[in-house]
Amino acid sequence: MNLVIVGSVAFDTIQTPWGKRERIVGGSGTYCSLAASFFTRPKLVGVVGEDFPPAVIRLFKARGIDTEGLEIRPGKTFHWEGRYGYDPNQRETVRTDVNVYEGYRPELPESYRAAEIVFLANIDPDLQEGILAQVRRPKLVAMDTMNHWIRSKLKSIRRVLKKVDILFANDEEIRMLTDETNLIRAGKKILASGPRLVVTKKGEHGALLFSRRFVFGVLANPCEDVVDPTGAGDSFAGGFLGYLDKKKSFSPLDIRRAAVYGSVLASFAIEDFGIGRFKKLRPREIEARFRRFRRLVSF
Ligand code: AMP
Repeated sequence: MNLVIVGSVAFDTIQTPWGKRERIVGGSGTYCSLAASFFTRPKLVGVVGEDFPPAVIRLFKARGIDTEGLEIRPGKTFHWEGRYGYDPNQRETVRTDVNVYEGYRPELPESYRAAEIVFLANIDPDLQEGILAQVRRPKLVAMDTMNHWIRSKLKSIRRVLKKVDILFANDEEIRMLTDETNLIRAGKKILASGPRLVVTKKGEHGALLFSRRFVFGVLANPCEDVVDPTGAGDSFAGGFLGYLDKKKSFSPLDIRRAAVYGSVLASFAIEDFGIGRFKKLRPREIEARFRRFRRLVSF
């Protein structure tokens, strides 16, 4: 198939109780396309400034990521700063500098318009909508968002929600979107507003998938050393959609397997700061962890 990923390509400044890193490469589009690249050849849409390291663009290409839709513009790359406490599920945004994303209105390259799977990763929902309008006949559209956009652009998010098949969101975001504290009730509300599947990410507790026909739970890998939780959600989505793109199937069984691959890819992302772990990750490690997940829930 053909997977197009729209998201942020960014510099992140990250503080955790175990250390701080300044301006390392991150972004929702970055994590998601790197994770997906272990299954397929995703096409990335985004913009970076002239300060973005060419070596990372070479890394994208070496991993089979199509970067024709990644613009380089005069100015500074998107910058996000976040802080985590001892609970890796709790994070605080210290600052967001949208920089080159200000006024960015991408024109999709012709080869991207025939996409069959589109992932609207965490980015301004108006941009998500504009890009989706340029794709001809996608078979599957998924989206993610973040508290920042839920607070500032709720109306736009509701419009995009009507046009997507899958929503990926963490439990806090699902609650904010629906004003429901109970996740099951919140999931049902989302299903009534557009998507056919809601993937609720619960950080170190895994994820819960809701559709009208089934509920499926997937664990997170039991991990002793969470170095940097940034990008776990985007890597989950990248593993999930990359696997579906490779299998060319949206059967309920493949959706479940995709969720396990999503959790596997997320579990690698958090083992190092930024995209460090993905630089050395090998396909056989992914398969070994997939088998470990199977043993975890077999009884
Ligand atoms: P995750 O940990 O998977 O939820 O995503 C973290 C990534 O989202 C970081 O690498 C940030 O660069 C990126 N990010 C943070 N805030 C925003 C935002 N407002 N819009 C787009 N991307 C963002």
